[in-house]
Amino acid sequence: MQHFPIFLTTAGQRVVVSGGGAAALAKLRLLMKTEARLDVFATDPAAEIRRWDAEDRLSLVERDLIAGDVNGALLVYAADEDEVADARTADLARAAGILCNVVDNLDASAFITPAIVDRDPVTIAIGTEGAAPVLARRIKADLEARLPASLGVLARIGKAFRATAEALPAGRLRRGFWDRFYAETGPRAYDRDGIDGVQPALQDLFAEYSHDGGTTAPRKGHVAFVGAGPGDPELLTLKARKALDSADVVIHDRLVTAEILELARREATIIDVGKEGFGPSTPQADIDMLIAAHARAGAHVVRLKSGDSTVFGRLDEEIEACEAAGVAWTIVPGITSASAAVASIGQSLTRRGRNGSVTFLTGHDIRGFAEQDWTRLAAPGSVAAIYMGKAAARFLQGRLMMHGAGPQTPVTVVENASRPEEKILGTTLAALPQTIGDAALDGPALILLGLAPRRAAAMLTDLEKEFA
Ligand code: SAH
Repeated sequence: MQHFPIFLTTAGQRVVVSGGGAAALAKLRLLMKTEARLDVFATDPAAEIRRWDAEDRLSLVERDLIAGDVNGALLVYAADEDEVADARTADLARAAGILCNVVDNLDASAFITPAIVDRDPVTIAIGTEGAAPVLARRIKADLEARLPASLGVLARIGKAFRATAEALPAGRLRRGFWDRFYAETGPRAYDRDGIDGVQPALQDLFAEYSHDGGTTAPRKGHVAFVGAGPGDPELLTLKARKALDSADVVIHDRLVTAEILELARREATIIDVGKEGFGPSTPQADIDMLIAAHARAGAHVVRLKSGDSTVFGRLDEEIEACEAAGVAWTIVPGITSASAAVASIGQSLTRRGRNGSVTFLTGHDIRGFAEQDWTRLAAPGSVAAIYMGKAAARFLQGRLMMHGAGPQTPVTVVENASRPEEKILGTTLAALPQTIGDAALDGPALILLGLAPRRAAAMLTDLEKEFA
């Protein structure tokens, strides 16, 4: 190890930066996170540096660094991005016995600045001794994704509670208490109620542990309603991945793909409550019961639904079942298939001058084919994302045309949006039932009313121009 990592105390200290360009800016952004006083010397400072000076976040001196300037500083950064100027700064620092970093010059530097993952007060420094900055960036990106943004808040609140927690016997019990706070109670409270929820949750947990020594403190179950997105595992949110990482039980729909289920914790119990359009399915009441029962037994349940669980997902019934059972729950939003489908055809769901609103509608509901505000949907320029619409194609066509929609209204069917087997069928309202019939689709399909795939739409306009 050529470089030894330490964490420097910066409160009340002075850090000197020579330079006012990109390199200086990059270092200043990091340094401004500390409590050090920053003195910047630059003849031609970037606008941001002037602004920070005006905001009193640093003090700017508009001239070159000279001998006396570095006196008493904790650190000096040579960031002029000019060999001669940087060498001069390094000499001045060395003469005054102050550690100096020459930006992008490992050999001339007395110290180097690591890549930082900042969850203050938790700080992770990553260094590769200049060997592989790309690797450092990758490790940083990985950690940034893995560590919840709430980590810093939890650590701060935890720190303030340490004295109180001393009341618990040292050793396994107290460790267990903290472990549960950081792994479970804290993040969940933060997700549910934000910062304000953390302190009360910590207090409750402490009360539980002090009451019976934590020996019988029941592990509290929890249900996360997680949107799994349209199928591509890369379209999962980071929160969804984290929930899968820590799930005891995953209860999922038929449309959730195998690749996504693969991501669940290895020890998790996976339960398929798949609902086949008209085929066998688990009755909703049984699903509600299953979710609540597992959570009441103390499990961390992930209820995984395709797309976004708030869109045609019967979410409210399941939430009500949790509430009735006294089980805590959270919703993790996902990418709904309408978003994935328009992305695939290169279109927007809304567009200035075309449609200021978009309708998400279902082809059939519990009573059969679903009635809608057909007049509005049939109006020129209207856009709708139709879920569960395959079997309702003829019905939809009939209703829309009866209310005045043009037979040439563009319609696009996107089957298996975002998945490798994705299929895009550009058609018109007049040809919709035929198109769907001919294609013999067997995957989930979304019908986009009023939208044509971008390329086809462009070709059509060209043709129209030609024949105009
Ligand atoms: N909550 C889901 C919708 C559930 S209803 C969401 O937000 O996407 C089920 C319907 O969603 C299917 O009948 C189909 O219309 C649509 N759907 C789900 N996944 C799809 C996909 N990958 N491609 C196209 N449509 C999909």
